[in-house]
Amino acid sequence: MTDIAIIGGGPAGLAASLYAARGGASVRLIEELFPGGQIVKTHCIENYPGAPDGPDGYALAARLEEHAAKAGVTPEYAGVVSLRLSESEKEITLSTGETFAAKAVILCMGASPRQIGVPGERELTGKGVSYCATCDGAFYRGRTATVIGGGDTAISDALYLSRLCKQVYVVHRRDRLRASAVLANAALQTENITFVWNSVPEAFLGTERLTGVRLKNTATGECSELQTDGVFVAIGIVPRTDLIAGQVALARDGSIETNERMETSVPGVFAAGDVRNTPLRQVVTACADGAVAATYAIEAVRV
Ligand code: NAP
Repeated sequence: MTDIAIIGGGPAGLAASLYAARGGASVRLIEELFPGGQIVKTHCIENYPGAPDGPDGYALAARLEEHAAKAGVTPEYAGVVSLRLSESEKEITLSTGETFAAKAVILCMGASPRQIGVPGERELTGKGVSYCATCDGAFYRGRTATVIGGGDTAISDALYLSRLCKQVYVVHRRDRLRASAVLANAALQTENITFVWNSVPEAFLGTERLTGVRLKNTATGECSELQTDGVFVAIGIVPRTDLIAGQVALARDGSIETNERMETSVPGVFAAGDVRNTPLRQVVTACADGAVAATYAIEAVRV
């Protein structure tokens, strides 16, 4: 039986696999798509300690994967269809049809971008509405793009797009940014970024393709239309907990409740990174969570 199954190959999962394997445990790391999770959507990671050159997300993901491989862990690319966590022997069923058992599980499923839920969003996704500036920004080279949100994701997306696009609008529901000061100051000083304060989208407009956004001013109630070629929705994230519904205690925001050892409400089940209830969602905290989870998972399987 595998000692530790790790579900998700973002920074938390890759760090957990490194620590678990180096600690002598047998490890299976299951990743659905590609290593790196959300960071592969990040064009420049400027605040990962020890990497002052600000690697792009792909580069950092590749280094994390390489480091895990050096410890003997190769991610297995498969979907996890179901998890049975309540017994002491955990059961993991993969999209390949295989079911395997593990003594401990570390949940590192990360989070998905939150949808804004306005008319036109679903219909125009992929036709002008996007959730990933790094993936889709190049489509708007020399054109106009609009970012919705005022957090770190929105502002770093706006800065990235400002280098490609003729004009970038940032639509934010308040008149102050949530983003860190470094990012906020850079965006406020960028000539082709215009802030549309106290505003929320009411609808994404267009039939075949996005043509604009209908906005409502949250202070005055006035409506207006902003013409834009693309919209990037960056209003936060939703922890990916579908797989463990009803099995593990969740916090009010839907993330997994853990203690400081990353233990969940179920013995032998740990959570790390963006999927857990954490006050700070960064690459450095995800890696730290992974290291802590692996350390106590090893302790759990050795009892
Ligand atoms: P976030 O920090 O939760 O910010 C979400 C933004 O969207 C906020 O400005 C919020 O407005 C706005 N918003 C939320 N719901 C909205 C709605 N229904 N309509 C309109 N606006 C809405 O999310 P995030 O920026 O994705 O960041 C997630 C985590 O990743 C954070 O911990 C962040 O620090 C981290 N992150 C870090 C970096 C970095 O350090 N370089 C980069 C990306 C992400 P209010 O401000 O009014 O609440």
